[in-house]
Amino acid sequence: MAYVVTSACINEMTFTPECERVCPANAIRRGRFTRLIDPLACTDCGQCEPVCPVGAIYPEAQVPAFDRDWIAKNRAWRTEVRESS
Ligand code: SF4
Repeated sequence: MAYVVTSACINEMTFTPECERVCPANAIRRGRFTRLIDPLACTDCGQCEPVCPVGAIYPEAQVPAFDRDWIAKNRAWRTEVRESS
């Protein structure tokens, strides 16, 4: 299990990246339009969820039904990061 960034993060890249700052595992990376969480690095500490200004971060088991595809998008973060660079 890991935390997951969901669609509410799209185009919110101008916000102060508080989630990146608080993550002790350096698991949050910048994708093309959103940040993403590397599920292999995430330790499930939960520190990123309350600091997200748009409520985009959920524990995997609590991701809303309409955003369940974002679990796979976060898992594919390496591809997204590579395409954005
Ligand atoms: S749950 Fe903790 S380790 Fe996982 S991305 Fe959020 S802050 Fe980082």
